[in-house]
Amino acid sequence: MMVVSVLAVSASADTVQFGIGRKTPVLDGFVSRTEYGAYVPYSYECDSSLAAEDMPWSERSPECYFAWDDECFYAAMVSDGVRLKTLVSERDANVYTDDSVELYLSGNGRKTPLHQIIVNSRGVICDLRDGKREWNAAGVRVANGVKDGRWTVEIAVPWKDVGFTPASQLFAPHVNFCRNYHSGQSGSVRFIDLDENYCTTIGHGNYAQRDTQALVFLRDKVGEVEFPELKVPGEGENARRQIVSLREPGNPKELVFWGSYPLRSREPMVFRSVTTDIPKLELLFITENNLQKPGDYRIDLDFRDLKTDSESVLRLSGAAVRSKGLAEQRFDVSKLPEGEYRLHYEFSDPEGRKLAGGYTYYGRYPAHPVWENCAAGSEDTVPPPWPAPTFRADGFDCFDRNVRLGEKGLLASVVSSGRELLAAPVAVVVNGRPVSFRVKSFEPHVSFADYVLSADDGDVAVRAKLRAEFDGYMWIDLVRAAGDIRSLSVEIPLRREYVAGHDDGSDVIDKLPLPAGRVGEWTFDPVERPFFWTGDGATGMMGGTEDLHGWKLSDRRRGYVLSVDDRVAKMTINFVDSPTASDRPVAVGFYLNPTPVRPKNVALENFDPAKMCRWTGHVGTFCDMKMPGSVDEERIRRFERRQANGEKVFWYGGTAIASPYSPLWAWYGREWNFTGDPSTVYLEMDPKDRAKRDAGGWIWGCLRNKSFFDWRLWSHCWFLNDSGYAVSNLYFDISFPRSCRNARHGCAGNEYFFRGMREMHKRIYRELKKKNPDGAMLGHIRFVRTPADNFFDEGWCGEAYEIPVSKQHNYYGLLKPEAMQVHYASRANDMVVASSVQIYRTYQVYSPKLLPSYNPEAPESVRAILHCAAYFKIHNMLITVRPDEGIIGKAWWPAESCALFLGPDRRHSAYYLPECPVSVDVPDRLFLYGIWWNRGEAMLVVLNDTDETVAKRLTLDAGRLALAVRVGEDIFGRGSVTLDGTDSFEIRLGPRETRFLRFARALEAGR
Ligand SMILES: [Zn+2]
Repeated sequence: MMVVSVLAVSASADTVQFGIGRKTPVLDGFVSRTEYGAYVPYSYECDSSLAAEDMPWSERSPECYFAWDDECFYAAMVSDGVRLKTLVSERDANVYTDDSVELYLSGNGRKTPLHQIIVNSRGVICDLRDGKREWNAAGVRVANGVKDGRWTVEIAVPWKDVGFTPASQLFAPHVNFCRNYHSGQSGSVRFIDLDENYCTTIGHGNYAQRDTQALVFLRDKVGEVEFPELKVPGEGENARRQIVSLREPGNPKELVFWGSYPLRSREPMVFRSVTTDIPKLELLFITENNLQKPGDYRIDLDFRDLKTDSESVLRLSGAAVRSKGLAEQRFDVSKLPEGEYRLHYEFSDPEGRKLAGGYTYYGRYPAHPVWENCAAGSEDTVPPPWPAPTFRADGFDCFDRNVRLGEKGLLASVVSSGRELLAAPVAVVVNGRPVSFRVKSFEPHVSFADYVLSADDGDVAVRAKLRAEFDGYMWIDLVRAAGDIRSLSVEIPLRREYVAGHDDGSDVIDKLPLPAGRVGEWTFDPVERPFFWTGDGATGMMGGTEDLHGWKLSDRRRGYVLSVDDRVAKMTINFVDSPTASDRPVAVGFYLNPTPVRPKNVALENFDPAKMCRWTGHVGTFCDMKMPGSVDEERIRRFERRQANGEKVFWYGGTAIASPYSPLWAWYGREWNFTGDPSTVYLEMDPKDRAKRDAGGWIWGCLRNKSFFDWRLWSHCWFLNDSGYAVSNLYFDISFPRSCRNARHGCAGNEYFFRGMREMHKRIYRELKKKNPDGAMLGHIRFVRTPADNFFDEGWCGEAYEIPVSKQHNYYGLLKPEAMQVHYASRANDMVVASSVQIYRTYQVYSPKLLPSYNPEAPESVRAILHCAAYFKIHNMLITVRPDEGIIGKAWWPAESCALFLGPDRRHSAYYLPECPVSVDVPDRLFLYGIWWNRGEAMLVVLNDTDETVAKRLTLDAGRLALAVRVGEDIFGRGSVTLDGTDSFEIRLGPRETRFLRFARALEAGR
């Protein structure tokens, strides 16, 4: 017996509709069936590897419950509660990476504003309105409970939080309710939806969102109806697409639920993945089994030559495991010769009838492959453009920085670009008391030096093993002697005057601005945010950790504490915050790296942007599997021709990625992968487009794993150095560190493969510079800055705005001056920072229906384009756009190339930099400007990032600029300004308006 409300009206083909009865449930983490006003037992799995019509019926059977009253909307879900992943502990952090539920609710009867409330099993909430995390549902309540392996989460959302008044509302709200699975086993995120039109890709928040919600009708009446059992259709026409309509028993006119579902009956056996237990020489054939009949279902394997697919090298046969769900069948491959294969498989039922078949790839590799112990780039040399460092017993000098060790603390002084960054020594604090270090030993090399410092004046003796490298990076292992300890921390006190912001690396839109006068304390969980940077537009300090080995924290959320007063911005790393004892020495590790870290590659910044080719796509036949015989020769020739035509081609690679479909992964994947599950795939392509899937599907390997590191390094360097390929510049995709939880090679989940990534980039950089001193490396960076990026001449960023940009089709409110300074401008001192443009692209990807009506030349579009372009240019970035991309808007290109006329030795400054030669009469955080100048000419970009019209008086420092031109003309034909006798001019800008003012002799001469 089930209680539901009744009635749904005229259903359209794409919308699920149902009625919800008025009830007020008790939020206690458990649902009783009479507590709610609607019950929806239907769901299907949204598996992005499948076409929509192939989505399987979900056997995980989450049950959804809904109710409403005058105060709240209620939603509850009961689903798998075994091994729930719950790492996120902070509101508005990425809760969807945990096992979680997502409630979408539009309050006003239309689809926007769309409220999204994501909850994990710890009750941590991430709530968004139209994708923006600034919004918080003030009165939202959550309850969790787990019983008999089933997890119940209940959510109450006050109507007033979502702007809805049920009594007076003419419209029905739209609802979507999903379960995000993030089991350690699958490692993937899967959604279970009420609505077939909700589609996702695997990965965080990267939704291909269409009409995503069900219409719900709020009913006063709750009819006592028996809920009919839903039959999953097996055969026939309705097997693929089923109309489901449920009516109240005894009252066929009352529709309880209506929906159209793509349903698929379970196949007896479905291939999932293949991997290898290398020590046992056993192939693990993973299927999803649903064996209905008694008797043996068989699996036949046929290993054929990879290239010809003809010659059979080995055949194996075995019985399918009689278990429901994922099944692992083992085959002895000790007799399989080394080589790469196309592995055909065939399933048959107990009568010997063939059920299904297909093929995958498999490889067997030597016990000691050619890449083992790859030594590429490991020599002790300093690659250009770095100057040789000087290592002394008490410190070192390297590019633009000087570090002094010891004395009262661990580091006595850190000078960057002539500024002393430290307000006091970097201190190691033992049981609440700072200790004093002396340098005990010093071993200088060409590109690095090893120091041992010791402090014997604390309760427990501490040694610091410090390695300093040519780029200013310092890795420090603090080794405490055996014994008891109550607390251990490192304090990094930075001078407040050189701090304008802090970056915890978690978000691209929001950073922590620290304008003068702001004081306070902020805490960070080092597991979720292991890397940090604090500084201003000119200098800063990077720091962070790789894992929590040797830590002892009672409160992980206070692992990092940033406390800021008028004098000091102090970052504290708390390694131990509660008593712990050890009979052996214990080490904890962290790094520091003052910025800027390298001379900027000015030649690259000034290279003709029309001839920059930053992307070749995969040149390996499997995703970045660059090995002899496994590259796409035709594609390589194509880009070699462009290179011969003067283009600067950056050849594709991924620091830490591999193809989960490759023969290599079939052999090594179990050990190399970062989840513990080699079948994890990060980017799934439609399996029907096999070639695309094999080349494009990718997954991370763990760079803490030596075998993977060796292969990856060898593969990149083989391609770089092979005489058959004309490679001079390299691109590294997805080159930001992430965490690994593959226990098979010793990662438990808090390990970031940061040092492996840094070592990889450094060694490849050495190899690149040996081959071609003018060669450059370009890296796809993301929210955070780490010393793994120091080897990129150019960082390419800006991919993380898609979702909000897709909703508003501009960057208003998404680009903020503080975040730009922290995230981009500080880097732009030592790295060419480039960003992509996404307004057109988000139409393409997210709103194709709107594309035909998008006019990039319409005034609103141009305003949005120039707003974004001005933001990028003012903060000294490149915009990755080419002149032949007119379809995305003509304004991008002149904005990108606006300063080129000033020559490669032009200078740049902006509102956030010290001694900017431009000033404004009434400064405002949303009135921004940047300037380039050279030989008496200048380009001034001005932006009003508000919704008001503003009038300002700008003054140029004519002396410093040595300006020989008095008239600045907007390059987009929107008027000119003339400097008066005080080198000033008035400017009036409408909402979000920009001016690109060109002070050029040719213009002034009335060209
Ligand atoms: Zn690992």
